[in-house]
Amino acid sequence: MFIGHFGVGLAAKNIDKKPSLGTLFFASQFIDLLWPFFLLLGIERVKVEPGISAFTPLDFVYYPFSHSLLGVLFWSFLFGSIYFLVKKNFKTSLLLGILVLSHWILDLITHIPDLPLFPGVDTKVGIGLWNSIPFTIIVEGLIFITGSFLYIKATKAENKKGVFALWGLLIFLVVVYIMNIFSPPPDSAEAIGYVGLSQWLLIAWGYWIDRNRKGSNSN
Ligand SMILES: [Zn+2]
Repeated sequence: MFIGHFGVGLAAKNIDKKPSLGTLFFASQFIDLLWPFFLLLGIERVKVEPGISAFTPLDFVYYPFSHSLLGVLFWSFLFGSIYFLVKKNFKTSLLLGILVLSHWILDLITHIPDLPLFPGVDTKVGIGLWNSIPFTIIVEGLIFITGSFLYIKATKAENKKGVFALWGLLIFLVVVYIMNIFSPPPDSAEAIGYVGLSQWLLIAWGYWIDRNRKGSNSN
């Protein structure tokens, strides 16, 4: 899942207006932001295996540190705790921790059984929405559209940048998503790692958007 995770980050702004959209993206996409580092360091592994599921040619051979249930519970706790130590805001820390965990729940729905429960244990789970391209697009598209709508409802542009930066990102994400479906499989695990790293720019984009918009109500 890709734009679905960003949809959840966008939606969260409607629950709590304190954290920037950049922080919300950071949380909801956190384990996919760690993953490319683990790949490039050789700690985790992915294989290009066209046909493994209808939607993606990626075979997530080994990624227990970023994507096991236990791993994500650890990251979720760590993310929330660090935010709490810095901002002393329990409610927002809790929300951010849940957002980190939400990534795994959405992955559980979409991935074929490749998500480990614990490092070192062979049991892998995944409901396999990816076996159907149309269902994947419908479910992920709905999450993304709902999230975008909620973010737009929760915030108001303070200037032109607040409009164009937001719409620019929404359109960009959809274009990347569609291109991904139609483009040939990547050449190597290394290439996947470097493309993965570029996602950090989307976090910065989130901060940029949020700086030019403010909560639509008081707050
Ligand atoms: Zn993921």
